[in-house]
Amino acid sequence: MIRKKLIAGNWKMNCLLEEGTMLAKSVAAKVKANKYDCDFLICPPFTILAAVKKCLRGTKIALGAQDVHFADKGAHTGDISPLMLTDLGCSYVIIGHSERRVDHHESNKLINQKAVAAHNAGLNTVICIGETGAERDAGKTIKVCQDEIFGSVPDDATAKNTVIAYEPIWAIGTGKTPTADDVEEVHAAIRAALSKKLGKAIANKMRILYGGSVKPSNAGELLKLPDVDGALIGGASLKADDFVAIAENALK
Ligand code: PEP
Repeated sequence: MIRKKLIAGNWKMNCLLEEGTMLAKSVAAKVKANKYDCDFLICPPFTILAAVKKCLRGTKIALGAQDVHFADKGAHTGDISPLMLTDLGCSYVIIGHSERRVDHHESNKLINQKAVAAHNAGLNTVICIGETGAERDAGKTIKVCQDEIFGSVPDDATAKNTVIAYEPIWAIGTGKTPTADDVEEVHAAIRAALSKKLGKAIANKMRILYGGSVKPSNAGELLKLPDVDGALIGGASLKADDFVAIAENALK
């Protein structure tokens, strides 16, 4: 099964206007100069989505947000609706990142609701799952991931509108990563859970990204695993050279 790799950058709460547009322009120039056989996505903070969109003109780099509300509009002070994101030119949104699950107490049920709303607005979702260090130590990694798949991924998910990102929480921003064997084992278990939930045909086509301290030096090993279909990258996506080098090493 050929699944085109997706190299996705999550800029998190980083980059003011000038820094963000410079970074986007630099990524755009590097991607344009090389015909990489993969898809690219960058997810800047809400405040610079419109400006970054302009920098991506003429490239195939998709624009995504890092969160969304489940309502199309209304009395939700401070929130951003799916229609507001499509209005800005976003085609993706990250949902259920562990930092939102923790900082904002987001439940599987809420993440599922957000994903349905995003899909209804025509957005593709990157739904994040992953275990804590304590859960890993207790041997619960696969059970946690299965529960998050069953709870967070909506019934309307297809291989086109949904990407899963497996991000062990203990690996995010720490420089630590699971072994390649561990990553493949978890990704295969995630695909089996998707198959149970959505059917084999959809599960086989759905992209499952790995996220957690991905950098150019480990991208080759991790992104060549059979069930790893790309990466969700935090820290290294803030350096254009590193972000693009990850794609290059993954495709070698
Ligand atoms: C992330 O937060 O999505 C992430 C993977 O971060 P980092 O690459 O910095 O570990």
